[in-house]
Amino acid sequence: MLQEQLFKKTLDEVQGHLTWLHLYFQGEPFLNPRFLEMVAYANSKRIFTSTSTNAHYLQEKQVAEILHSGLKQLIVSMDGITQEIYEKYRVGGNLEKVQEGLKLLLAERKKSGQNFPRVVLQFLVTGQNEHQLPELKRWAERMQVDELQLKTTQIYDFENGSELIPSDLGYSRYVPAGNGKWKLKKRLENKCWRMWQGAVSTWDGKIVPCCFDKDAQYVMGELKAQSLEFIWSSLPYQNFRKQLLSDRSQIEICRNCTE
Ligand code: SF4
Repeated sequence: MLQEQLFKKTLDEVQGHLTWLHLYFQGEPFLNPRFLEMVAYANSKRIFTSTSTNAHYLQEKQVAEILHSGLKQLIVSMDGITQEIYEKYRVGGNLEKVQEGLKLLLAERKKSGQNFPRVVLQFLVTGQNEHQLPELKRWAERMQVDELQLKTTQIYDFENGSELIPSDLGYSRYVPAGNGKWKLKKRLENKCWRMWQGAVSTWDGKIVPCCFDKDAQYVMGELKAQSLEFIWSSLPYQNFRKQLLSDRSQIEICRNCTE
């Protein structure tokens, strides 16, 4: 779990440079009991804060604390509009809890007269849920969420196809390659704007290039021992960027990325 002391030390170092902070990476942020205190700290430094949740922890107390924390954006993941479809992807999840939490947050935000957090409903479109899109759109409109995001899904072993690939390829990162195989829809180009725009920290302060590095294979440095400024210009980071610009296909995480 991300330690508040490390978080504050890092923010103190980067304030004045950092404008946007997404407090989320491979986990449920609301499981950290100090999470909203960290949001409030970032907010006090005038940094835009955003997070992403499975919305299983939006009870009265948390909703009041969210509104008080200064959180600017909350992305709620909901990948189905019926329990049966929802739990295909969110195994063990409870759709009713998600929907009740979301309703409570929106109602309390309205009561408070605040515009924040902005509520984004995010739906990963898969072959299992794409038929629910019309119903989803009606529900999102009724709820008056600020934005409905329909997101394409990353699939690890896409080459052999997957039931997660939607039949509407407009919602797919992959297209048939012939011989029953699949390939990335977008041609791999030796570029990546992310390498000059931001970085990702794991819960224990390892800096990795982006959120595709889910298992921290490409560690550029450690916040526990180095400043972010130092890591940003360090040799491992420079070499990673050079490799990406010369031949992205040599970097494992970049091979399945539409950037
Ligand atoms: S996987 Fe590679 S190309 Fe994609 S965002 Fe990360 S660093 Fe950039």
